[in-house]
Amino acid sequence: MDLLTRLASTLDTPAVPWKPLILTFALGNYALESYLALRQYRVLQRTTVPPQLKHEIDQKTYDKSQAYGRAKARFGFVQGLWSQGKNYLSIQYDAIPWLWALTGSWLAAYGPADSTHWLRSEITHSLLFIFTQSFADTLLGLPFSYYHHFVLEETFNFNKQTRALWATDVVKSQLLSLALGIPLGAAFLRIIQRTGQSFFLYIWAFTLLVQLGAITIYPILIVPLFNTLTPLPPGELKTRVEALAQRLGFPLGELQVIDGSKRSAHSNAYFTGLPWKKKIVLYDTLIAKSEVKEVEAILAHELGHWQMGHITRQIGIASLHSFWIFGLFSVFIGNNSLYQAFGFPVERPIIIGFMLFGEVLSPTEAVVKLAMNAWTRKMEFEADTFSQNLGYAPELAASLIKLQIQNLSSMDADWMYSAYHYSHPILTERLKAVGWTSERKVSSSADDDKDAAAGKTAAESKDAHKEL
Ligand SMILES: [Zn+2]
Repeated sequence: MDLLTRLASTLDTPAVPWKPLILTFALGNYALESYLALRQYRVLQRTTVPPQLKHEIDQKTYDKSQAYGRAKARFGFVQGLWSQGKNYLSIQYDAIPWLWALTGSWLAAYGPADSTHWLRSEITHSLLFIFTQSFADTLLGLPFSYYHHFVLEETFNFNKQTRALWATDVVKSQLLSLALGIPLGAAFLRIIQRTGQSFFLYIWAFTLLVQLGAITIYPILIVPLFNTLTPLPPGELKTRVEALAQRLGFPLGELQVIDGSKRSAHSNAYFTGLPWKKKIVLYDTLIAKSEVKEVEAILAHELGHWQMGHITRQIGIASLHSFWIFGLFSVFIGNNSLYQAFGFPVERPIIIGFMLFGEVLSPTEAVVKLAMNAWTRKMEFEADTFSQNLGYAPELAASLIKLQIQNLSSMDADWMYSAYHYSHPILTERLKAVGWTSERKVSSSADDDKDAAAGKTAAESKDAHKEL
């Protein structure tokens, strides 16, 4: 604690040029990501199928996946430029103190006359500030979201959602973030106000509880707001999945199908639930596109994550990460020079301190991202090996190739780009690791576009390496 206090006072000096420093970090991060994107763009301009895949992927599919990759990359470039520009200008021209003053004036004008009333407190003001900012961000981001779904994805026949569904999703997400964000945000600020110097220990414990709560509540309360889940009907698939679960000692409570095809068509499978009673959820699109044994191979991979304790370890690492963040935040929370540099000479709202601290921390977060991705890629290899050891290597390889074709995911990646961005190894590496030697074609080209659409993964993901 003493060390933290000393560090805090060392850093609290007008000698540190906070604003230029943060602007430099932001530009540095943007330069790094643009450089990586450019390297990847060059890979996306290649016209020859990677040698390892030349028997599995035909030229037409390859060309189409490259074109799709380039279209996404160009979209990402424009979107990145916009968000970087917005961030830079808002720091440069003091948008934060301006919005803080504006929301404060709303409270003074429309809130209770008594300025000590709880509705005029720092917590209310902070929540109003945050939600105004996030609402404005969402509004400004709508054209991008619209273009992404109805132009980019539509062009490659991946979009499956109607404009009405898209609009309802936007409204639902906004209402949901209000419903969850108000109590959680208020509790977060209240804990910091109440617990003094050692607040970071309490905040850390609180965040851990919220994370565990979210993992439990999300599939029960949130998923049904957006999708419909139905029990998997009796049949070969059901029997075999149950047998697999039993063989591995997986406490399978329910087996359900989710209507992923309603939006785009994230081909996937996942499990949720409590340690002693779990639920496996299969995407309708996955069932439609795969042989029974291929679904089993994918589930074996997922159950590998479960048996090797990957999820628990991920939660453990995430909580260490948040411990580091909040510990450091306690160093910056009282930093007058930081507040002053950003237009807060007198008032020091906690929420503003946390935002500014996030900017200061951004370079180390890039390193954390690099390390986390290296680690999750290792776990993906382990889960593949698990599935392989259960005898599913050919089916796992076949379904990985199928998914790649259906999603038109990039077949090849620049090594620096993938090291930084990808949480999953690239296809050729995974095939090599499970000893795939077949030289037959798994699927012909995506000449049937409706077919291709049925295998699209999460539209928002940077690449299709999110599934499995
Ligand atoms: Zn996995």
